Amino acid sequence: MDDISERFWCKVAIAAEDECWHWKAAASQGYGRFGLPSRRIVPAHHVSFYLRHRRWPKYLLHTCDTPSCVNPSHLNEGDQASNNKDMVRKGRRRIGSLQHKYAHAVPRIRDLLKHGCRVMEIARWLDVPHPVVSNVKNGIHAFKFLETAEDQYRGNAHAAQAA
Ligand SMILES: [Zn+2]
Repeated sequence: MDDISERFWCKVAIAAEDECWHWKAAASQGYGRFGLPSRRIVPAHHVSFYLRHRRWPKYLLHTCDTPSCVNPSHLNEGDQASNNKDMVRKGRRRIGSLQHKYAHAVPRIRDLLKHGCRVMEIARWLDVPHPVVSNVKNGIHAFKFLETAEDQYRGNAHAAQAA
């Protein structure tokens, strides 16, 4: 497997030890992908771990929360429990960013509601998921609901494209 080392590191923007080393080649959902000689495709950060520790990790977490990072110092081998905790934490962050994403629309939603516009119309005009508009209308600020709204919105968008 030593022959992969050179092929691997030439795809990495190696930086200082405490900085993120970004993967420059093929990626999927932000995570670098690397083809092994066996033709198996593996996450690039797993290869980074392997090259340092000479064994494959079962779970591998980024301490820097940067999916494209393959700096071995930013990788922590976790277990099922810490992996789940990490997923929960990332989920919370995603919901936080969703709130932020639609926060700018809230004053306009309120304004349009005051003028008697309908939820579906407002959603279409402002290009926001209609459950977000309903939430504002009902005064609900449920984080979890926003996440569901985003997923439904994406689902609807796909359905609309397919139609
Ligand atoms: Zn990093």
